[in-house]
Amino acid sequence: MSMKFTDKNVLVTGGTRGIGKAIVEQFAAAGANVAFTYRSSSDEANALVKQLESNGRKAKAFQADAADYAAAEAAVGEIVSEWGSIDIIVNNAGITRDNLMLRMSEDDFDAVVGTNLKSVFNYSKAAYRPMMRQRKGRIVNLSSVVGVMGNAGQTNYAASKAGIIGFSKSLAKELGARGVTVNVVAPGYVETDMTSTLSDAAREAMLGSVPAGRPASPDDIASAVLFLASDEASYITGHVLHVDGGLAM
Ligand code: NAD
Repeated sequence: MSMKFTDKNVLVTGGTRGIGKAIVEQFAAAGANVAFTYRSSSDEANALVKQLESNGRKAKAFQADAADYAAAEAAVGEIVSEWGSIDIIVNNAGITRDNLMLRMSEDDFDAVVGTNLKSVFNYSKAAYRPMMRQRKGRIVNLSSVVGVMGNAGQTNYAASKAGIIGFSKSLAKELGARGVTVNVVAPGYVETDMTSTLSDAAREAMLGSVPAGRPASPDDIASAVLFLASDEASYITGHVLHVDGGLAM
């Protein structure tokens, strides 16, 4: 089986680096037209659009704060009007603002929940009508092992990532009969900018409890996203796919 996305129109939030960039590149390599959002890195976004176009794909970059609903509607609306449909949404944008509860500010909580969880509402809502009309669609949301197991210093992040799981299962039930699936990928420890600030000791401690004995690469996560977004996965919905080297079992 080789998954094909020829002429499928995909939107990935937070596409200029890390896991989001790997997802963008894998979809494009499999034949999709790929749009992505980014918050501030315009140079990286423009370079990625050029890279995708030079490989013969349609590509679009939207500068949009993932927490902004109007921006989500505008991006999805432009894709539908210019490319004809929205087939796949990947909610990948995410941030951390770690602190023990004692020192966590209200702003740390609101920023993380707004970026990580409300964004999933925003892009799912924006795609809801077009996907219902098409009677076909895929929504894949990035949670985390932390949303399943919890982690000291990450109450805000864990709440946002656990929230994504409940949200996705509920939406999967709403959309099940419409040919639209909603699934979750829950990565473990992935080497990206997000985890580059961990100390060596924290990194070693984390890897010590990963049965696979190594961190994930962004491509390990992207492959799971593409599977859940594929035609082949049409009977899988409301699922949480752990891509964590065995960390949460
Ligand atoms: P990263 O920091 O390398 O990249 C995050 C991406 O999200 C960037 O492209 C950034 O521009 C974008 N982004 C952040 N805030 C945004 C906003 N307000 N609006 C639009 N875009 C925004 O992180 P990553 O490691 O690639 O993480 C991607 C996703 O995977 C996140 O949801 C993260 O929580 C999740 N995840 C990561 C790990 C890990 O170990 N790295 C583990 C589990 C889950």
